[in-house]
Amino acid sequence: MKSQRAPDRSVKEPRLSRTHPPVHLAPADWQRALRRQFGRDQTFGLENRGDQPFFSEFVVVNPQSKTSYRVAIRGLNAGDNYCSCPDYATNELGTCKHIEFVLARLEKKRGAKTAFAGGGVRRFPSSTCATTAHARCTSAPDRTARRP
Ligand SMILES: [Zn+2]
Repeated sequence: MKSQRAPDRSVKEPRLSRTHPPVHLAPADWQRALRRQFGRDQTFGLENRGDQPFFSEFVVVNPQSKTSYRVAIRGLNAGDNYCSCPDYATNELGTCKHIEFVLARLEKKRGAKTAFAGGGVRRFPSSTCATTAHARCTSAPDRTARRP
């Protein structure tokens, strides 16, 4: 049972309205926070398709809509990660509910703090993933000859 009243002392992040932007947030931040909030409430299925515990390639399955999307996790910041869903492709926020869902799951894992504090293994601009074939984003750690 959820209380109808908003908590006065917001120890955790306050719930956001989907229709009314809060005054203290920029519209883009609000939209990101909404996805974060929504993603964390989901009961999607999660599958790690890579060989890394955190910075890996995942498949997120929505059992209700029977859709699944590929998510690549590279860090905690907006724009670090990639998702193959249409929302991510168009919202220009650098995140979506699937990414937020995966991050929420990963943050509960042992060693998550250390892993994410160290940053992603290989950063890429989200636009790269959208324009190049996704294969590049799902490929294993860079083995192409790139010598200094
Ligand atoms: Zn998505």
